[in-house]
Amino acid sequence: MKIAVLPGDGIGPEIVAEALKVLKVLDLKFDVEAAPVGGAAYDAHGHPLPEATLKLAKASDAILFGAVGDWKYDKLERHLRPEQALLGLRKHLGLFANLRPAICYEQLTHASSLKPELVAGLDILIVRELTGDIYFGQPRGRRSSPDGAFAGAEEAFDTMRYSRPEIERIAHVAFDAARKRNKHVTSVDKANVLETSQLWKDVLTEVGKQYADVTLDHMYVDNAAMQLVKNPKFFDVVVTGNMFGDILSDEAAMLTGSIGMLPSASLNAGKQGLYEPSHGSAPDIAGKGVANPLATILSAAMMLRYSLQQAEAADRIESAVQSVLAQGLRTADIHSEGTTKVGTRAMGDAVVAAITKKTTKG
Ligand code: NAD
Repeated sequence: MKIAVLPGDGIGPEIVAEALKVLKVLDLKFDVEAAPVGGAAYDAHGHPLPEATLKLAKASDAILFGAVGDWKYDKLERHLRPEQALLGLRKHLGLFANLRPAICYEQLTHASSLKPELVAGLDILIVRELTGDIYFGQPRGRRSSPDGAFAGAEEAFDTMRYSRPEIERIAHVAFDAARKRNKHVTSVDKANVLETSQLWKDVLTEVGKQYADVTLDHMYVDNAAMQLVKNPKFFDVVVTGNMFGDILSDEAAMLTGSIGMLPSASLNAGKQGLYEPSHGSAPDIAGKGVANPLATILSAAMMLRYSLQQAEAADRIESAVQSVLAQGLRTADIHSEGTTKVGTRAMGDAVVAAITKKTTKG
């Protein structure tokens, strides 16, 4: 087994170092090889996704990714910006299924902006299609408007498109995931307005017939955004397209109190996956040693579960994270009165200690 480690920019290297520390203590057998990505790769090699980094990613069973981006690259041409590395990896590796759990840990219910009773025990899995939709659809561009009331004016356009097989494969991912959970899928679309969404809804309904044990319901995206803050525990698995998923997964993330707690997995048909925290590179706190490494540590747990077939090791990481929260240890983003504020490294050390303690106890 081989893991490509791409720390990236901002807090990326700090949080990935903690996840590697945790993986090391599990004493599993795999090779680890690091490579630059994002702004760091642009600075070193003139491209956010150098050929050697892509080659390593392709040859690996899993990729542990930190985060990319910094405001200082905002003036670069679009194809050279750090974020293009992620889009490139998704495209070249065919990572079409993005799994983002939003779990509200018992100890952190007060950190949510919602009332504790609304989020206590919350456990949603957002399944976002990642390689299609308006983010990749062609044609796109700028031109002089050819018709309409503003003919001749400068206009920009993007294309939202989905094909039946693209929708079918993400539907199967969602239904399979629901089978291992509470057997409830909510498909989110905008079928009252968009053709793409009507096809999405039709295909979800058809695929759903193969999963008689799973309940399927459909919701328009505006209603889903509302229900997520009104009655979030209604949801089990939410499956949606690239753009709606982008927005709803961030909304779901905030229900849990801190984006610093949320892992994610992006998988292809062969179960090769890219694992990264749901947050960005947080340039505002980079280098200060205060970033929360738990989302990245939990991403490493997802990596063990989904790509490296080490479910037991994944369980050990997840219960160690629960244990450090129960001890009252908190990084600044989740800190509250009565808990102990720790930095990035101390949080990583505490997870390592919790794993070692459980191992010693047998
Ligand atoms: P962000 O997620 O980086 O930060 C948003 C806020 O959350 C900031 O206040 C930050 O300090 C805080 N935060 C994020 N992660 C944290 C952690 N682990 N611990 C504690 N606090 C944390 O989003 P942004 O500020 O909108 O974007 C910053 C850069 O990240 C941009 O260049 C953006 O393009 C990039 N970005 C990258 C990814 C990715 O690599 N997958 C995702 C989103 C944004």
